[in-house]
Amino acid sequence: MVTNAGKTDIKSLLVSELQEHLRELREPSYRARQITDWLYKTRVNTIDEMTDLPRSLRTRLMDRFSLGNIDLVRVLGARDTTRKFLFRLADGNLIESVLIRASPALYGGRSDRRTICISTQVGCAYGCKFCASGLEGFTRNLRANEIVDQIIAIEQESGEKIENVVFMGMGEPLANFENVLRAIRIINAPWGLAIGARRITISTSGLAPQIRRLAEEPLQIRLAVSLHGATDEVRNRIMPVNRRYNVETLLLACDHYVAHTKRRLTFEYILIADVNDTNQQARRLSRHARRVAAKVNLIPYNNVSGLPWTRPSESRQAKFLSILRDEGIPATLRREKGRDIDAACGQLRLQMKREFSSGALPVTP
Ligand code: SAH
Ligand code: SF4
Repeated sequence: MVTNAGKTDIKSLLVSELQEHLRELREPSYRARQITDWLYKTRVNTIDEMTDLPRSLRTRLMDRFSLGNIDLVRVLGARDTTRKFLFRLADGNLIESVLIRASPALYGGRSDRRTICISTQVGCAYGCKFCASGLEGFTRNLRANEIVDQIIAIEQESGEKIENVVFMGMGEPLANFENVLRAIRIINAPWGLAIGARRITISTSGLAPQIRRLAEEPLQIRLAVSLHGATDEVRNRIMPVNRRYNVETLLLACDHYVAHTKRRLTFEYILIADVNDTNQQARRLSRHARRVAAKVNLIPYNNVSGLPWTRPSESRQAKFLSILRDEGIPATLRREKGRDIDAACGQLRLQMKREFSSGALPVTP
């Protein structure tokens, strides 16, 4: 929450915390809603623009808080298709977000919704073998305001209201638990971005203890678990996290989550040729899905340059899907939008970093 300058960013506060600060400053608590209106409705760039606050209060707020932004460095993709946004943070780190037009079934049903896929960390420590975000290791957690700012910046750039949020960009959301939950509260709050909790999905690579912890939260958000392998043998090969929390440990956490929240979860399963796409894996996956009453979202693998994996043929994808369906599992096969611009998160940043370091692109936009 603390910025480079040592100040808390005002966009990382909940309205109740703002009220607390105002009490300390001997100001009426209704000022908190005035401030959140400026931040999330008018969307000012400086505290000084909050013109219905007394000047002396604005000065004291500026002493206490910063109000930062993230800088848009690059946009990829045509306006009415999937678009990728590369941002630079105040400390120079790069992150990316993706705006998806026709949302896949996982993202809430209707096909015309605007879904944003946002990042929660710079890099990722979990090192899944197929993922661009894991390739370069972990740099740092994003702060709550840096998570929220991705949505604000994309709404501003596109001139459109975002309707669904998926935490499927760079990073492992449940490894940045506090900041992600704080960001979700701001995104969900009527005084914040007012996006319904059921339109917000967290995706995790399977941090079993944090899944249990999430089950205690009263928020009605959705959870997606990146399974990508139905046995320890397959999962160990592509997801190092499985050596810490194996398939059974993960499923026990899922059991707990479902029993506790009464909410359905989704298994994400990337189909990678000759790795996890056998009939046997499909049957094991069906068994797991039935056990926790999960839906399954199959995602054909997106090539990442430098990595050896490929997607299975369309007939193999269809066969895998049909096995799940024959077993009575609700399953979808994601028709990838924006494959042409490398829709899998992490890739744009990787590519940009390579171009930056080779001197092919100026570092300032
Ligand atoms: N760390 C979290 C969320 C970010 S990854 C997680 O792993 O769930 C979001 C999704 O993108 C995951 O399901 C991940 O497995 C998937 N993904 C990563 N690289 C991919 C690729 N090359 N092709 C298709 N999906 C990919
Ligand atoms: Fe991290 Fe998720 Fe990529 Fe695995 S798939 S390396 S957990 S971002």
